Amino acid sequence: MAIPGSIEGVMQSLEGAQDVAKAIRLSGYLLEKNDLKRLLADLTATVSETKMSLSLLQDAIGEKDKELIRMNEALFYKGNIRRRGDGYYKTFENRPYGQAYCSYCWEKDHQLFHLHNRILNRDVRMCPHCKNEYQAIRTPYLDTEKQTA
Ligand SMILES: [Zn+2]
Repeated sequence: MAIPGSIEGVMQSLEGAQDVAKAIRLSGYLLEKNDLKRLLADLTATVSETKMSLSLLQDAIGEKDKELIRMNEALFYKGNIRRRGDGYYKTFENRPYGQAYCSYCWEKDHQLFHLHNRILNRDVRMCPHCKNEYQAIRTPYLDTEKQTA
């Protein structure tokens, strides 16, 4: 039995459908009602299996598309991201600005996650993804105006 959601799984299901067609042909198109019922049940099961496999495949393709978009973004930002203090920032004309991104997530996976202020503790900022904590003073918001002044 092939793994559902694999190309092999879809091919196997389609072969099952072909077997049903073959059985009907080999009978000379003359089948007992019970045999016909059984073959029809096989065909219905095969169609459901195929539908399920295709839907799983579509999910997998969707995930890969998302990953491609993310990698493309990472590649685009790679030259425009700079470390400052304990965080990474987008840059404008080489100057870091805006909110800091998690340095762990950027260095490990090239993923950009803005650090969030911890509730009731404004000295600590946290990555929503990896939950690493940073000192707020080492990961400040950088104003573009002040940078250019
Ligand atoms: Zn992180």
